[in-house]
Amino acid sequence: MPIYEYEPLNPRKACKTCAGRFEVIQGMDDPPLTACPSCGHGVRKVISWCRAAIMETSDEHIRVDKTISEYEKAGMWSHAAELADTHSEKIGNHDLKIRALDNYKKAGYDLGTLEKHAKTTSD
Ligand SMILES: [Zn+2]
Repeated sequence: MPIYEYEPLNPRKACKTCAGRFEVIQGMDDPPLTACPSCGHGVRKVISWCRAAIMETSDEHIRVDKTISEYEKAGMWSHAAELADTHSEKIGNHDLKIRALDNYKKAGYDLGTLEKHAKTTSD
């Protein structure tokens, strides 16, 4: 069930429940709340792009992470390295960049060049 965030239309009339923002778990097809369930004052739905974006990234991250592990298990170091490298740039994950470098090393790449590359890109 998705979580929706609401805020009071008039913060000065808000009660303890709806002051600031509050979250409601609703089905996709449920009509949005128009009033606070506790005090009955008007509320409106806040679209929380940030939360959705983070969830999307972590979902994707888990999937990519799994694929990298599979490449590593199979000894496909350059595949693992390239995937980890691309993905670390995309989500700005430094640990993943280090993992990519480690896999590049195992794949027989020149690590000196790669480390220089990692330093310039992580700044
Ligand atoms: Zn309220």
